Amino acid sequence: MADTTARGLRLVADVPAALADYDAYTAALGGRTPAIFLDYDGTLTPIVSRPELAVMSDESRATVDALAKKLPVAVVSGRDRPDVEKLVGIESLIFAGSHGFDIHVPGREAIGSDVIEKYTPVLDKVDARLHEVLDPIPGALVERKRFSIAAHYRLVSDEDYPRFRAALDEVEAEAPDLKEKLGKKVFELQPKIDWDKGKCVLHLLQVLGLEGDEYVPMFFGDDVTDEDAFRELQGRGVSVICADPAADLERKTYATFRVDTVDDVIGLLRRMTP
Ligand SMILES: [Mg+2]
Repeated sequence: MADTTARGLRLVADVPAALADYDAYTAALGGRTPAIFLDYDGTLTPIVSRPELAVMSDESRATVDALAKKLPVAVVSGRDRPDVEKLVGIESLIFAGSHGFDIHVPGREAIGSDVIEKYTPVLDKVDARLHEVLDPIPGALVERKRFSIAAHYRLVSDEDYPRFRAALDEVEAEAPDLKEKLGKKVFELQPKIDWDKGKCVLHLLQVLGLEGDEYVPMFFGDDVTDEDAFRELQGRGVSVICADPAADLERKTYATFRVDTVDDVIGLLRRMTP
């Protein structure tokens, strides 16, 4: 089979559209069984101004549920695992929360949580400091998660942004055990551990016994943090970015295919359900 996956970074506009070119998409799967990894926000639900408003439609839920009855399906999200489990509401799925730090496979013990627990005191301290420096800035939103802290600036004005960034820098300088990860209008501070969504996917493939040639690992995502998974799957799996090339002309990706909207993600998943 021709290798359609090892292409490196390219502009989103140059990535083939999975629905428009469904034959090429099917060819890339090569008759193998998809092992499907899904991001949540911006992939299964549209991006919203406040994280608690990102609710999955009944139709999307039914599509993912039907797919999971036929194929291995995992949700890999930046959210806390209990949070995303509740939002998706399909108990049979595999869930990885906190960018893959916190993994749960139905019927098994959670993986990885103990490594992270030791960071809780550091995160508590930084959370308090972030509230101190960011709460006075209009629109700034500090979101404490179990294994990270998100500083959202979607609602911060351009005028206030330099103040937001400076305040964040000040706190980060005090917290050498944490690293900053960029998302969509959000900076996320997480433990400085060599772990990301890509490593999480490789780990899950191994744990779930999905490493054989009969499987094709697939990752669906929209954000910068999903690029770690797209990159890991280069030459090995097939990835799909949910991004409208017209909305961000500069955006580059490692993804194999693209779709423009969340509705198209759901449409694609429905179309590939056996
Ligand atoms: Mg996302």
